[in-house]
Amino acid sequence: MLTHCLGIPHISTGDMLREGIRHGSNLGTAVVDRMHSGALVQDEVVNMMVEERLSQADAANGFILDGYPRTLDQAGHLAAWLNQRGMREVVIHLAVDYNIIIARLTGRRQCPRCGTLYNVASQPPKVDELCDLDGQKLVVREDDSEAVIRERLEAYERQTRPVLKFYRDAGCPIVEVDASGDPPPEVFRKICQALEKHDC
Ligand code: AMP
Repeated sequence: MLTHCLGIPHISTGDMLREGIRHGSNLGTAVVDRMHSGALVQDEVVNMMVEERLSQADAANGFILDGYPRTLDQAGHLAAWLNQRGMREVVIHLAVDYNIIIARLTGRRQCPRCGTLYNVASQPPKVDELCDLDGQKLVVREDDSEAVIRERLEAYERQTRPVLKFYRDAGCPIVEVDASGDPPPEVFRKICQALEKHDC
């Protein structure tokens, strides 16, 4: 929704890493074990991958980073990259209760062909386990089991939560949105409203 509205690309490090695993690339082989266990991938690997992606033409006027930066090292790396180019960042912090995160992720299903997301409880497909758009059998992400989700939440607390403080201390604009209860269009509306205040 944001990509459509702002006209800038959505860059998800998780999607890029999963793509590497699907294609059996060297990158994919190097990260698969960590990803499936719920641990973060090494900073050097992710930083290099993001830098390469941000250098592509479609990112020249801005981009939405999703899932990056996730560590202080990554945040510092990104800040240096942006500073060199005179670009500024706006942080969107979606706060969601951990029990709701676990319920959402264990119920998440995705179409392996077109990427459309579903949730067995809140947004099921019309025909059980099949994509509404192309009829493909939906899949569960390897890291969406409850045990692995708990590892991911621990990694978040340990390595990612400090990133929020990094941006607060740097005086960076932060859009705080409670995303626990509202449906996606309402969360989107709140984000847009807040982004307008920051001239985005
Ligand atoms: P996501 O799709 O954003 O939930 O990411 C899924 C998994 O990919 C994470 O649990 C990590 O193993 C890995 N990953 C994605 N982005 C990063 C990142 N910025 N730094 C380190 N690991 C990442």
